[in-house]
Amino acid sequence: MPEIQAAVCTAFNEKLTIETLHLRDPGPDEIEVTLDAVAICHSDIHFAEGAWGGALPAVYGHEAAGRVTGLGARVTGLEPGTRVVVTLIKSCGTCQSCSTGRPALCEATGAAPTKLTRPDGTEVAAAMHCGAFAERVVVDRSQVVALPDALPPESVALLACGVITGIGAVVNAGRLRPGEDVVVIGAGGVGLNAIQGARIAGARRIVAVDMTEEKLETAKAFGATHGVLTTEGKPWRHALRALGRGADLVAVTVGATKAYDDAPRYLGWGGRMVMVGMPETGATASYEPVIPAFMGQHFIGSKMGDVVISRDIPWMADLYAQGRLKLDELVSGRWRLDQINEAIEDTRRGGARRNVIVFDAAA
Ligand SMILES: [Zn+2]
Ligand SMILES: [Zn+2]
Repeated sequence: MPEIQAAVCTAFNEKLTIETLHLRDPGPDEIEVTLDAVAICHSDIHFAEGAWGGALPAVYGHEAAGRVTGLGARVTGLEPGTRVVVTLIKSCGTCQSCSTGRPALCEATGAAPTKLTRPDGTEVAAAMHCGAFAERVVVDRSQVVALPDALPPESVALLACGVITGIGAVVNAGRLRPGEDVVVIGAGGVGLNAIQGARIAGARRIVAVDMTEEKLETAKAFGATHGVLTTEGKPWRHALRALGRGADLVAVTVGATKAYDDAPRYLGWGGRMVMVGMPETGATASYEPVIPAFMGQHFIGSKMGDVVISRDIPWMADLYAQGRLKLDELVSGRWRLDQINEAIEDTRRGGARRNVIVFDAAA
């Protein structure tokens, strides 16, 4: 049973502490991955702040890349040393959602046996089926996708969450067709990927909505054709003026309830609102039901971009290798595991892009 260094949350809103933990061996359908990189996602921060509850102590981190170092007895199709992306999407393959092609909505919620323990035997939760703020993880086979060796781990790690969530929101959940007009509310880590997803899928015009000129400039580098500042007051009016009509698709990529209050106002006839950003539990938004009823609009929740990781991650990795998908540009900082609190603080200050913990292979 190997010992690993991990960043542990012992109380909400406190700094993470680096501890030595025991990681159990993989079960028959699990694999062990020694990590090269793990990105810090806003969901990790929301969990660490207690916004969504959950057991403590816990190890967060769910956007990771590494190499296979252990294989369960029933695992096929992977070799030790294979470069893999590790996601939080665990799927059973047989429930109604999995059987109908939506593994991100897997209905089998059973928890895996404890993976992490302190030297005194205390259980530590590996949150989101991952616990990837750690040198190594043990995850279910379904959570992992193999990728070519040559791709840099700190870039492909982003494919595990932010990229699939943003691109999948417009392509899978939103079913964007070429020629449609798109509004993306929020040009952060998920929003920039919704924007480049819309560009890749052939959107006619892409309006980015955010609070600063700087974020709108970044959005344009990722494919936005127009930018609207929320500080302008009734920002939907500016978007409708720019498009000359309501949008076919509005993706809400931030968790602010104000964004959810405003989002339907950007929609045109038959438009779809894709709901991606996750406000804290209990938060509510309001809208006028008569409008979607009269205008034939759709409100669509999108979990993890409705992704099928074995289909979508190799697709996106190829686009990246061909220069058609931006990943390197999303990495804003590289940090060591013992700097994780500084990296989290930097992300919390509103950095649109990803801070990545990089593990030194030689260490
Ligand atoms: Zn995430
Ligand atoms: Zn399932």
